[in-house]
Amino acid sequence: MIIAIDGPAASGKGTLAKRLAEHLGFHCLDTGLLYRAVARDVARRGFRLDDLWAAVATARSLDPAELEDADLRGTAAGDAASIVARIAEVRAALLAYQRDFSRQEPGSVLDGRDIGTVVCPDADVKIFVTASPEVRAKRRFAEFEARGMGVAYETVLADIIARDARDAGRPNAPMAVAPDALLLDTTNLSIEAAFDAAVGLIKRKIGHPGR
Ligand code: C5P
Repeated sequence: MIIAIDGPAASGKGTLAKRLAEHLGFHCLDTGLLYRAVARDVARRGFRLDDLWAAVATARSLDPAELEDADLRGTAAGDAASIVARIAEVRAALLAYQRDFSRQEPGSVLDGRDIGTVVCPDADVKIFVTASPEVRAKRRFAEFEARGMGVAYETVLADIIARDARDAGRPNAPMAVAPDALLLDTTNLSIEAAFDAAVGLIKRKIGHPGR
C-alpha cells in the first residue's frame, strides 16, 4: 500500500508522514531530502545550483544512503533544493529510486510536492496538507527561536511565500493537488489533531486505519 503526502513547506507534512509510517509499520521517505542532497553536493563540487550539467550528473550519482545530514534540514538547504528541483532531468534521475522505494512491503509513505501527481499517481491514498502561509511561518519561526536563531518573522514568511511560488510555478512537476487527493488543512490543528484527521481520512478511503 502506498500513501502519498504532498504539500508546501512547513505545512507539517513531514511530521505527519513519519507519524503515519510509524503507526502503520510502513517505510517512510522524505523526498525533499533527495533534492536537498543534490543541491548540497552540487555546491560541494563547486558548481552553481542552476548549472544543468552539474546538477544532473550529481542527481544521477546520488547515494540515497547519505541523507542523514543535519545540515540538510535547514531553510538554506530547502531553498537550494527548490532551485535544482526545477530541472526536469534532475527530477527524472530521482524518479526510479522513489518509485522503487514506494513499492516496498508492507507499504510506504512518501512525502513531497509531486508524489500524488507524478511519482506515485496510483497511490492508494493521497493527502495534500495545507496551512495558511502565516501559520506555517509562525511554526518555522518558533522552531528557529527554540534553536536560538535570530531570524525575523517577516523574513521567514517572505521565504515561505517565495518557495511556494517557485514550487507551484515551475513547469516540471509543479506542486499541485492531485484530482483524487484528500485535503487536510492544518491551519488550526495541532500535530496530534492533524494525525488523527489523517488516520480518519485513510480509514474512510480504504476502510481501515492500518494496524
Ligand atoms: O519538502 P522539502 O521542504 O524538504 O523540499 C525542499 C524542496 O525540494 C522543495 O521546496 C521543492 O522545491 C523540492 N521538492 C520537489 N519535489 C519533491 C520534494 C521536494 O520538488 N517531491
